[in-house]
Amino acid sequence: MNNRISVLMIEDDKNICSYINTLLSANSYHVISALTGREGLNLAASLCPDVILLDLGLPDMDGYDVLQQLRLWNRAPIIVVSARTMETDKVTALDMGADDYITKPFSNAELMARIRTSLRHCRGNPYDRIYKALDLEIHFEKRLIFLEGKEIHLTQVEYQLLTLLAANSGRVLTYRFIMSAIWGPYIDNNNQILRVNMANIRHKIEKNPAQPQYVFTEIGVGYRMHENEYEPSLNEFQ
Ligand code: CA
Repeated sequence: MNNRISVLMIEDDKNICSYINTLLSANSYHVISALTGREGLNLAASLCPDVILLDLGLPDMDGYDVLQQLRLWNRAPIIVVSARTMETDKVTALDMGADDYITKPFSNAELMARIRTSLRHCRGNPYDRIYKALDLEIHFEKRLIFLEGKEIHLTQVEYQLLTLLAANSGRVLTYRFIMSAIWGPYIDNNNQILRVNMANIRHKIEKNPAQPQYVFTEIGVGYRMHENEYEPSLNEFQ
């Protein structure tokens, strides 16, 4: 049990708790439940879980306050699991330091993928050297991008944008986060420059830019890149 990955679930709905508990236990995770925000903060401090699932609608505290307090000192990935579907709620949670966001109801596969993605990013490992999904490959150190084995050429900004998404593949990055990472914190909030560059990237890498396979739009929130499927060989970890 000790070497299993531990997941702290802060959620007051007992049905959802037991559902997630069953799902994660069946996938070899160790699950710890907290029914209130206060209990969640205490357990996060005492047990140092590897991943935290956080519901925003809690009986004793606002979920955003729990998120904010956790982020002051806890570095474990936090995935917000919420019934709130408004884009502004997602953007707020992500901008406050959540690693990802999943909306109820979600599929088992979706939840498992989000947990895998969050763990992969927090380890910081050779996955970061190569991105590979479907017919697209990015070699970060050599700054090369291949589509169906043929090298493709991007402008400097397009390259920075695509590699930012690829390095964070599987998770949604907000427009504001991307804009400030590429153009700096003083860029205005108009997303037009981002949309133009994304259209150009899609034109170069997507078979059908209207139905992208690599970079997906989360309407009103940001972009999410297809999860990295590259599996490093064992000796790359040494
Ligand atoms: Ca709730």
